[in-house]
Amino acid sequence: MRVANPDSDLILFVESERMFAAQKWHFQRLYFMISAARHFAEELRGQGFTVDYRKAPTTRDGIMRARTDHGIEKVLTVEPSSHRLHKELSDLAEYIPSDFFLTSRQDFIGWAKGQKKLLMENFYRNQRIRLDILMEGDQPMGGQWNFDELNRQPLPKDHSFPPYLLHESDEIDHQVITEIGDSGVEFFGAKPDGSWATTRKGALKQLKTFCREHLENFGAYEDAMTEKNWALHHSLLSPYLNIGLLHPGEVVDAVLDEFAKRPELPLASVEGFIRQVIGWREYVNGVYWFFDEQYRESNVWGSTGPLPPLLEDPSKTKMRCLNQIVSDIQSRAWVHHIPRLMVLSNFALITGTDPGLFLSWMRRVFIDAADWVMVPNVIGMSMHADGGRMMSKPYLAGGSYISKMSDYCDGCPFNPKERTGENACPFTTLYWHFIDENYDDLKKNHRMARQIGGIYRLSDRERIREEGTAKIKAIRAGKL
Ligand code: SF4
Repeated sequence: MRVANPDSDLILFVESERMFAAQKWHFQRLYFMISAARHFAEELRGQGFTVDYRKAPTTRDGIMRARTDHGIEKVLTVEPSSHRLHKELSDLAEYIPSDFFLTSRQDFIGWAKGQKKLLMENFYRNQRIRLDILMEGDQPMGGQWNFDELNRQPLPKDHSFPPYLLHESDEIDHQVITEIGDSGVEFFGAKPDGSWATTRKGALKQLKTFCREHLENFGAYEDAMTEKNWALHHSLLSPYLNIGLLHPGEVVDAVLDEFAKRPELPLASVEGFIRQVIGWREYVNGVYWFFDEQYRESNVWGSTGPLPPLLEDPSKTKMRCLNQIVSDIQSRAWVHHIPRLMVLSNFALITGTDPGLFLSWMRRVFIDAADWVMVPNVIGMSMHADGGRMMSKPYLAGGSYISKMSDYCDGCPFNPKERTGENACPFTTLYWHFIDENYDDLKKNHRMARQIGGIYRLSDRERIREEGTAKIKAIRAGKL
């Protein structure tokens, strides 16, 4: 509300009925977006603004009708966060640069045009220097840009966690839950359980909790996965950042203030978190706007497989990792980046799932999803469907990675070490199956040489071909 004046401006909110019913959204995703908007409208009324909050067939219809109703001449809005909406509203409204990020779209494009490859690491170093964060003069604090060799550890068996922060619901929240439940529209997942706040006050409480209770262990276990705790030491701030309840600058400041108060906190954890906010998040948004609208349709592997039924219903798989992760998503519309990248997206890639179908699923089941974040993350980073325009190599892994980083395999009927046979882990079989099928393309990438070279040492390559094909068939039939 940087440029709004309560004496002269009317604030318009539109709930789009098309958006509401367009997809089988996760119940909590829709709840979060609607309830947060209604709370924000109330807050603005409290600040003396005149607010028109309406439902309309589409966002465009809502703006047009409000313009007529109030005799409005000029409509201002923050730059929409998707290519589609950006185009759709461009003749109706004047756009103000978004302050949801620390890097403007134009600044990113300026940086990207000067690069041979869009390497995140280069962008991140540039951000550290430009924003003067964790710097000692012109050198990175601690003498290194990152400390990943200290992070990304598996979780020790006896590790304990602080209790989850639960957010209380109010009248508005209850009203939204009832409306969504009574709408007759089909949804994915469970109703809210207090895991997510819908107000700025709640978002700030989450930020404080993260700094006090989780920052210390964030880095060490940021890639670990466990059945014992759904959040681990992750901040759970992405929904609030992506909807505008928190600004990335204040999140960075809060973390740096905590580090100043407690210098004993591991620099690896602080830097690891800061990189997510000023590096990854900004980079992904920049990439989305740097590439055109057709980027989302990239499919260099030519994968056309259907969405595996287990993604809609986890009871359709015996694979413990996927069963647990999809159940966690059903419960709270969230899992952290490693289940998303190394399990779900890896699975979509090695089962030959159509990247567009998988992208659409990711967009509708995660509470923090937005077009700008999901398109580069799915098409570019995780499925490598863009042929390497964004990342230099695909993220491919078999069961041994999942076994090392999680406790899922302990309760699974499959064995992550076995490639073939009845007990073989489907991830392991399909990892080699994918390499075998795409060997000629993969070998053009020198960064994959070591990883794919092993295929020639396998004595059971023919069996992998047969069993891989049979397993994909079984997964698509919801029988594995
Ligand atoms: Fe997943 Fe394979 Fe481990 Fe089972 S054995 S949990 S399928 S990685």
